[in-house]
Amino acid sequence: MRNSAFQVFKQALQGDVGWKPVWRSPDPKPEYDFIIVGGGGHGLATAYYLAKKYRQANVAVLEKGWIGSGNVGRNTTIIRSNYLLDGNEPFYEFSMKLWEGLEQELNYNAMVSQRGIINLFHTDSQRDAFVRRGNAMRLNGVDAVLLDREALRKECPFLNFDNARFPILGGLSQPRGGTVRHDAVAWGYARGADQHGVDIIQNCEATGFLISDGVCTGVATPRGQIRAKKVGVAVAGSSSRVMAKAGMRLPIESHVLQAFVSEGLKPIIPGVVTFGAGHFYVSQSNKGGLVFGGDIDGYNTYAQRGNLPTVEDVCEGGVAIMPMIGRARLLRMWGGVVDMSMDGSPIIDKTHIEGLYFNGGWCYGGFKATPASGVAFAHLLATDSPHETATAYRFDRFSRGYMIDEKGMGAQPNLH
Ligand SMILES: Cc1cc2nc3c(=O)[nH]c(=O)nc-3n(C[C@H](O)[C@H](O)[C@H](O)COP(=O)(O)OP(=O)(O)OC[C@H]3O[C@@H](n4cnc5c(N)ncnc54)[C@H](O)[C@@H]3O)c2cc1C
Repeated sequence: MRNSAFQVFKQALQGDVGWKPVWRSPDPKPEYDFIIVGGGGHGLATAYYLAKKYRQANVAVLEKGWIGSGNVGRNTTIIRSNYLLDGNEPFYEFSMKLWEGLEQELNYNAMVSQRGIINLFHTDSQRDAFVRRGNAMRLNGVDAVLLDREALRKECPFLNFDNARFPILGGLSQPRGGTVRHDAVAWGYARGADQHGVDIIQNCEATGFLISDGVCTGVATPRGQIRAKKVGVAVAGSSSRVMAKAGMRLPIESHVLQAFVSEGLKPIIPGVVTFGAGHFYVSQSNKGGLVFGGDIDGYNTYAQRGNLPTVEDVCEGGVAIMPMIGRARLLRMWGGVVDMSMDGSPIIDKTHIEGLYFNGGWCYGGFKATPASGVAFAHLLATDSPHETATAYRFDRFSRGYMIDEKGMGAQPNLH
């Protein structure tokens, strides 16, 4: 069923009882050409592009819980392509371009809202670093605007310009950045994949891999063994646990990241604003709630709940740039487990086991990557060669010393 204004009108006249389920709930077949383990944004997007772009008809997604239960439904919804390094920038800009056409592509309202992102700077040296990043973006054809203090004051008059602990000197703006309704992305890709014949099988955990003589031929699940010519794993925060079942130890640690939503307020924040002297980022949802977050908690964990010291740290960052946030009441907060790689950048690659492929290490920035990651992983699975925008996201970069260390923090996941 296609979504359209006519359909909304017609269904409304009929009491809204004619809508069809957005995807089917099929039983698993004994065998597929491709199995994608993990029904988050990346797994669903991969299945969608495998079916649509690479014309693969025999694809299944196995999800241990329900669609949207992982980080795709837990993130702070920010999209941007304001990266510095060559390995990253073309990939994230490719993703941004896919976001720009996503709703038409999926015929689904994902509330893509390019309301802009501004990274604040607070020292002269930080301004120099942001100028460099902005120049790198522009060399890659990406929009970047350096705002001085007065230009920034016009855009964000609510910031604490006059009495701040960390003086706000300006900001690097990417006007095409913004937010997207996160769970609509999961639902939209699930619907699109289903329409192209993909079997989405929820409550079906991959509990092991069928591997013999170095070849993966399927997965074990509580609903029996399911065979496949190729298996792609995209399980985000569970990456190390799941790949351990294939005997692999990944250059990845799992950490919890928290998100927060305030009560609904009148519109005040035009886009996304990030603090440059601590870790705090904020936007305002269409319902008026301030949606914000900060740093990971910094302890290895698979628990989807956060710790109080980080709550305090995030709120301290918020109050430092916009003290009035201290008057807003916090409505909700939650945690998600993110797969932090050693250099802060992702991996989309074959493993040493034939037929087994891996997509992960998205740290806390993988939502914005969802469309490009889907295309790149589908390309790798379908053609056995890396997508042109993802050639740097290889496992062997860690042994070869070719890090993609966007933050310049070194090989420590909790610092990225
Ligand atoms: C609080 C928070 C805020 C964030 N904010 C942003 C942001 O503003 N912008 C941004 O770009 N990124 C953000 N991120 C990061 C982003 O959400 C993730 O990088 C991205 O969602 C990960 O990819 P995914 O959607 O595929 O993950 P998930 O949705 O977690 O999908 C993985 C799926 O695999 C399933 N799974 C696990 N094990 C198995 C198994 N054995 N068998 C079958 N299925 C399995 C899980 O149940 C899960 O549904 C944030 C993350 C968090 C937690």
